[in-house]
Formats: sequence, structure tokens, C-alpha cells
Amino acid sequence: SCAISPKAIVSDACASYSTLEQLNRDIKPALEDLTRTTDFFSHYRLNLFNKECPFWNDENGMCGNIACAVETLDNEEDIPEVWRAKELGKLEGPRAKHPGKSVQKEEPKRPLQGKLGEDVGESCVVEYDDECDDRDYCVPDDEGVSSKGDYVSLLRNPERFTGYAGDGAKQVWDAIYRENCFQKSSFPKSASLGDTYSVPKNPAAQDFRAVMQAAGRQHILEQQREQNPLVPFVTKTGLESEDECLEKRVFYKIVSGMHASISTHLCWDFLNQTTGQWQPNLSCYINRLHKFPERISNLYFNYALLTRAVAKLGPYLSSHEEYTFCTGDPAQDADTRAKVLAVTSKAANTVPGPVFDESIMFKNGEGPSLKEDFRNRFRNISRLMDCVGCDKCRLWGKLQTAGYGTALKVLFEFANNDTSATTSKTDEIPFKLKRTELVALFNTYARLSSSLDAIQKFRAMVEESEEGQ
Ligand code: FAD
Repeated sequence: SCAISPKAIVSDACASYSTLEQLNRDIKPALEDLTRTTDFFSHYRLNLFNKECPFWNDENGMCGNIACAVETLDNEEDIPEVWRAKELGKLEGPRAKHPGKSVQKEEPKRPLQGKLGEDVGESCVVEYDDECDDRDYCVPDDEGVSSKGDYVSLLRNPERFTGYAGDGAKQVWDAIYRENCFQKSSFPKSASLGDTYSVPKNPAAQDFRAVMQAAGRQHILEQQREQNPLVPFVTKTGLESEDECLEKRVFYKIVSGMHASISTHLCWDFLNQTTGQWQPNLSCYINRLHKFPERISNLYFNYALLTRAVAKLGPYLSSHEEYTFCTGDPAQDADTRAKVLAVTSKAANTVPGPVFDESIMFKNGEGPSLKEDFRNRFRNISRLMDCVGCDKCRLWGKLQTAGYGTALKVLFEFANNDTSATTSKTDEIPFKLKRTELVALFNTYARLSSSLDAIQKFRAMVEESEEGQ
């Protein structure tokens, strides 16, 4: 009876831990089947090397360890059919493209479903990565670059310990937590801080320099804040003071939960440099997670959030008219869909009800005005991933921010009842997700699923070691 809602500060005592663990036992095999055995979900395309850190010079923060390296698929024949450029190219074209922004603006009420689906006989075209949608919580990964990106097998590049640490990594995490510093409408104007930091309205469409300057301004503000106790915007850890609103708390939880999941994986799949073995490192877990129950609680919170988003997508992904996996082979397409539905149906089947209630967010108080801020801040976090100086960490950092961004888009930008899950709240443009968004979402969910599993095993190891003493 303790379902996690964004309202709850998830506590250790909350029964929802066991509810989610039970759910995860049910869902994990299906999720692994999907992400490990289908070409569609075991590969990803992103811009791994071509984008510079837009916020600072990151030359010194590069990781030279072999464990940081990513094996990309450079030859066309190594890329599965479903991901090959020629296949994707075949699907692109003026008739079958996602409606551009101008169309959306000119004809906001026009039902475009028929145009995209019936007339062109092709409803699977979702390769409009260069197009930034107002409703996106992430920047498209090929923003500002011309190449089509790098192809990777996620199976051949597992997220694990890389040795990336020190000032470079710390700088990125610090900047990520700084994004939690929301503008506050009730902030006293008399405070001697000058203007508060505000993210440009549509940063995706703006010169990066503006964003960098804003980030610099914010950094100065942070320093001033540290010297001025009258300005309790955020505490050191990024948590806001007493009157912190729901949305800000949710934002912090998402970031902290993602950080906790990354820490869990690097502790679970850790390189013992004495033996050369990859194995769980219990003291790594104790020092980064066990001593900080709040971090673990945030990880569970993210699991609940993604469960809800994946469940909500079920009706959309179940229908051939709505979504085609474009494998080029109907049998493979059907197999991929069946595996997706095995996951979405289990995610939807939570007892005693939805594990996460997004409908209460962005409603009361300063909630509605925070939505755009929330979205822009999340976009900045996705940009910050280009500042991660370890290729493997950047790959999984980008994938997971894209996964959370997709979950937020599904939860907050699209209608809530299942029958109209394919229609956005704001207009009648059919709900289309890019394949990279979909792959990121399910793989992020799989990461959280494996984190939950690892945390339980680590917990048992701690108990065992305590009993032995
Ligand atoms: P860090 O994990 O760097 O944390 C910095 C500070 O943040 C801590 O001192 C603490 O105050 C606070 N903090 C820590 N965890 C949380 C939390 N959950 N919630 C709130 N606050 C917290 N390394 C790998 O080996 N493999 C990877 O795949 C990997 N991926 C990464 C992806 C990204 C995007 C980034 C930025 C780093 C990644 N790293 C990875 C590096 C790794 O996350 C750590 O930065 C590194 O291991 C050094 O750890 P640390 O103990 O100094 O603390």
C-alpha cells in the first residue's frame, strides 16, 4: 500500500521496495530477452566522438584506460540490417517524414495519423533525429553535427568499472547537480545576487555560447550563494531546503537515482586489479551506496518512474498501425514486438495499482511554470554528457539521459488514458518516438532492473559479512 508517488520521499521502511523487487523478479527476464536477443534493442546509434563539451574545455579530463574505450561498428556489414544506414535511408523521404514544426504550427488540429500511416503505407519512419521537438527532454544527438553518428553493440560494450574518476568526473557530476537549482518565483528581489540564472527559452535553437555563458553565470551565482547564507537555494548535495516543491524534488531524485545506478554497475562489475578478475566489489558498494540510503531510494524511485512510462507505452507499441519496428523482415518484426509487449504488459500489471502517479506534477503552486524549466534543465544534462571524458561512460551516460528524457516525455507530454496514448496532450499530432528514444528507454529500464538486482545481492553480502563477524 506504499506505492511510490513523486510526492513521497521514498523511505527505506516503505513497503514499495519489496513491491518493486517483486515486480523486478517478474520483469527482468523479459527485459533481458528484449535487450539481449533483438537486433533492434541491442544496438544504438549516437554521436560519441564528434561533439565538443559545450560548457568547458575538457581536454584534461580524458580517460586513457583501455576500459574506457568503446568498440564501434565501423563497417556497414557489421551493423545489423535493421540499423544500417541504407535501411534507414530507405525509410526517409519527404512523404514519410515526421511533420516538421511549421506544419505542426500551421495546422495544429489536423489529424496527421492518416497522412503518415495510410497514404504512404509506412508508419515506422521515426528517423528525424535532427529535428528538435518542443516536447523533448533531451537534445537530439546529432544537433550541430553533420555525421549520422556511431553505431555500437550495447552487448559488446557493457556498462562497468572503467577507472574514470578524479577532477574530470567530479566536474561533470557537480555541473549535473547544479542543474537542480531551479529559479524560484518567490526569491527575494533584494538579494544581492543580481539576476538569477535562467536557461534560454529554447536552448536547442540557440547558440551554444549563450548556454555556456549562462552556465558560467550560474557558477558565479553558486559561489555567491555559498558565501551568502540568506540564499538557501540548494544545499551542497543538491537537495533544496524545507519549502522545496515536488517538481524540484523529482528532478533531484532522477539525477541522483541515475548516479546511484551507474555507481551500482561499476561496483558490481569491478576490475580487481590484483587478480585481473571482473567481480563485485563490496566495499565500493558500502562506501558509495549502502552508507547513503537516500541514493538507493532514488534508484528505486527511478525504477518506479520508468515502469510507469513503459506501461503507458504498451498500447502504442502493441499495434502494427501505430508502430513498426522496421526490421525489414515481418517475422523479426513480430518477434521484436512480442518481446516488447512481454515487458510492457508486466510493467502495466502492478499491484495494487500504478507505481508512480505523474498526474499530480506540474499542477499546483509554481508547478506549471516549472515545466519548461524542468525540461530545459534536463536538456542541459543531456548536453553535459559531451563533457564526460571516458568513451564508455559517455556512451552509457548519453543512453541513460536519453532514456530518462524519453520517459519524461511519455509521462508528461502525452495523454494519460490508455485509449489515446498515441495522442499528445497539446495537439492531435500522433505520438511518434524516434527509434533511438525507444531503444534508450528500454535499455535504461534494463539498467535499473539490473541495479535493483545487484543492490539486493550486495545487501545480502553485507548481512552475511556482518553475521560472520
Ligand atoms: P562520484 O561518483 O564521482 O560522486 C561525486 C560526488 O557526488 C560524491 O562525492 C557525492 O558527494 C555525490 N554523490 C555520489 N553519488 C550520489 C548520488 N547517487 N546521489 C547524490 N549525490 C551523489 N565510472 C565507471 O567506472 N564506469 C562508468 O560507466 C561510469 N560512468 C559515468 C558516467 C557519467 C555521466 C559520469 C559523470 C561518470 C561516470 N563514471 C563511471 C565515473 C563515476 O561515476 C565516478 O565519478 C568515479 O568512480 C569517482 O567516484 P567518486 O567516489 O569520486 O564519487
